[in-house]
Amino acid sequence: MLFHIITLFPNSFDSYISESIIARAIINKKIKIKFYNPRDFAKNKRQVDDKPYGGGPGMVIKAEPVIKAIQKAKGQKKKVKIIFLSPSGKQFDNSYAKNISENYKDIIIISGHYEGVDERVKKIFKTEDISIGPFVLTGGELPAMVMIDSITRQIKGVLGDIESLEENRNASPEVYTRPESFKHKGKNYKVPEVLLSGHHKEIEKWRKLKTNSKN
Ligand code: SAM
Repeated sequence: MLFHIITLFPNSFDSYISESIIARAIINKKIKIKFYNPRDFAKNKRQVDDKPYGGGPGMVIKAEPVIKAIQKAKGQKKKVKIIFLSPSGKQFDNSYAKNISENYKDIIIISGHYEGVDERVKKIFKTEDISIGPFVLTGGELPAMVMIDSITRQIKGVLGDIESLEENRNASPEVYTRPESFKHKGKNYKVPEVLLSGHHKEIEKWRKLKTNSKN
């Protein structure tokens, strides 16, 4: 899977993608992440944004440098998913991530910033508007990282045996590890008895109960 990220702030991805499971997926060649900065495609590198037509606060990222960045990412590839991150887009979820991981090898993610990206980019590339949730962030960099993470963990071989996809098993919303018991401010905190019992059926029943009570 090749993620092509269009962003004015590629450095903001560094720390997240160089740690843990995502870093391992890159090393093991399960995924690759390429960045395209619209600034590199602007006539005047200093100015990739301008005031919004019709007035209002903030700045809008110009269409042309973003279009050129997308063209570079797309190259001659025929089947590419192009996603436009927007707080008013379709809600991103696990089944969307699974679908992308199973059907695409190249995915272009356009991260906006400031007041967003000139709307004409969407029209030209017939992008899909995706939101990672009902809140507004300052930029599309975090949403792009959320999507990379969620899609990557769906790719076969990315998660090890122990960490296999929790949506395919009875993962508990409550997890515990050693020690069995410890004191905090005079109170004793114990692991639920059933988890220490060794009765797998009872443990499954308890996990189901916990999952249902959280939903
Ligand atoms: N007025 C703009 C709008 O409603 O689309 C808000 C732009 S927001 C401040 C800047 C950028 O952050 C957006 O272009 C988008 O790329 C990204 N963004 C913010 N919140 C997001 C969310 N919940 N999901 C996906 N992207 C988001």
